[in-house]
Amino acid sequence: MPPTTIAIDGPAASGKSTIAAVLAKQLGYLYFDTGVMYRAATWAALDRGLAISDEAAVTRLTETLQIDVKPPSKDDGRQYDVLCDGRDVTWAIRSPEVDANVSPVSVYPGVRSALTAQQRRIGLQGHVVMVGRDIGTVVLPEAQLKIYLDASAEERAQRRYREVQARGDPTQTYDDILANVKRRDAIDSGRATAPLKAASDAIILDSTGLSIAAVVAQVEELIAQRSA
Ligand code: C5P
Repeated sequence: MPPTTIAIDGPAASGKSTIAAVLAKQLGYLYFDTGVMYRAATWAALDRGLAISDEAAVTRLTETLQIDVKPPSKDDGRQYDVLCDGRDVTWAIRSPEVDANVSPVSVYPGVRSALTAQQRRIGLQGHVVMVGRDIGTVVLPEAQLKIYLDASAEERAQRRYREVQARGDPTQTYDDILANVKRRDAIDSGRATAPLKAASDAIILDSTGLSIAAVVAQVEELIAQRSA
């Protein structure tokens, strides 16, 4: 039997989402990217004009939000729809404003506990590939396969830059993206609650210089070993 709960953690733009989506499809599992929840909470706080530094207000708002992830309703490159209180925010949560503010929001323990509880409920149902920063350490410490996917900051920024260009967004330069990736890594790794780090029983894969297919092949090999 292949592992029924798979956790994939790692820094921004390390290829987690792409790899997880491919694996979930192959295994017939749910693919769940927890980053969209932190992004949706950040988008909602900005949309309501809250000061991101107002921890109490941002936490209260997050506790009341209804965040849903559903199959894609449009053929515009999206992997899924993200709905925040019924509004389609799939692309809005990828804006530079959200990129710049999501890590500060993700530091707040109250925000994390509200979102972690929902993620854990989904994860415990099994047959899931869950992606984030703290899945193997906090959300699903009992996951049967834990992968920590890394790559150099420059390569991660290059990948994100190509995605942004493919979407026809001329506003973000490679240097802007690299600076944002490094800043998010520093905040995500340095926070006190559920920092970005590999679980002690995670397999660490470095995807620098590797194609998606090559990384998927390595993960498939791990799954085969665990299934035996
Ligand atoms: O994965 P993605 O880049 O979309 O995540 C956006 C941000 O959400 C991360 O930089 C991090 O601050 C936060 N996050 C988190 N814990 C998770 C998933 C994402 O803190 N499990």
